[in-house]
Amino acid sequence: MNRKSLGIYIHIPFCVRKCLYCDFVSGPSTPEIQINYVNQLKKEICRTSNGNIVDTVFIGGGTPSVLDVNLLEEVLCKLKETFCLVPECECSIEINPGTVDYDKLIKYRKMGINRLSIGLQSCNDNELKALGRIHDCKTFEETYFLAREAGFDNINVDLMSSVPEQTPESFSRSLRKVAELNPEHISVYSLIVEEGTPFYDMELKLPSEEEERLIYHKTGRILREYGYEQYEISNYAKKGRECRHNIRYWQCEEYLGFGVAAASYRNGVRWKNTVDLKRYLGAELEEPMENSFYEEMEYLTEKDQYAEFMFMGLRMNSGISKETFRKRFGISMEEIYGDVLEKHIQNGLLERAEQSIRLTERGRDISNFVMADFILLE
Ligand code: SF4
Repeated sequence: MNRKSLGIYIHIPFCVRKCLYCDFVSGPSTPEIQINYVNQLKKEICRTSNGNIVDTVFIGGGTPSVLDVNLLEEVLCKLKETFCLVPECECSIEINPGTVDYDKLIKYRKMGINRLSIGLQSCNDNELKALGRIHDCKTFEETYFLAREAGFDNINVDLMSSVPEQTPESFSRSLRKVAELNPEHISVYSLIVEEGTPFYDMELKLPSEEEERLIYHKTGRILREYGYEQYEISNYAKKGRECRHNIRYWQCEEYLGFGVAAASYRNGVRWKNTVDLKRYLGAELEEPMENSFYEEMEYLTEKDQYAEFMFMGLRMNSGISKETFRKRFGISMEEIYGDVLEKHIQNGLLERAEQSIRLTERGRDISNFVMADFILLE
């Protein structure tokens, strides 16, 4: 039996309503759809397992907190029945302000959920309205304090920069307001306007690249004042409170995803479930999985795996350990990437730190440019 530890991602595609910038697989649901979805999830979990040890679980969406709490419990029970969750397993759930009450939060804790990720995005109500969010800042604060009251001592708050109506000053105010609440973790992503979303067809006043960079640097400076360390391009945490599940992705460790649009990575193969909810609900999960169940399936060559390991690992401030690279691939990083490493060390975009290679601050500003250099041509 393969006892390598795994991370598990569970996608809950339900939301109260769609935000104007959202291109995730998510939308409103009915009680009947939720029941059918959870039945499918349980079947998918059962059929995939081989008794692996699991040390991180992430329930994302959508807004998983709109799922009926008893249905969520059924999913977690099935997970525990089928996999071997270690006692110190990090188990996170994404919630939105206003979608939980005290009783629900207590039930989450009883089920073993020990980390909350609250989707706030901004403390400015005009910006929240412009994004089409369902909540205001006061509702967020109520949810945050309820979570503390219910005993959650590991909370992330998501913020968004470069949103319409936002100024560098209003962004700083949001950031400080959140930092003053002292959550263990803060994520700051900048808005990306995706095709197919209402934002794509709207005339939006968005900051220039230069302004975005200023906001990015300011984010690091402000959060350092409050005792947060940046450990990844968009993520900041108090010491020891980094998100272990996400680190698994950046270190190219294996994970299984369950639910519509969920992605998995195992044994050098990456696949993604169908993004079509109807198709997911109708899939015959007792039978060998029909091809249409998958949206994508990719067999990574050795060269793909080297490249992915480099550009995912460079997202992290600690960089990539040479020893880990050698252990993973049986060859040294220098043998594969000696010239590229030397070039970017010379031009100040990469640096050596003890036994690791990492991006410099300037390198982080143009990380896509550096990372593209690690893709190896056949
Ligand atoms: S809450 Fe999140 S997943 Fe749901 S519509 Fe808004 S951005 Fe999308």
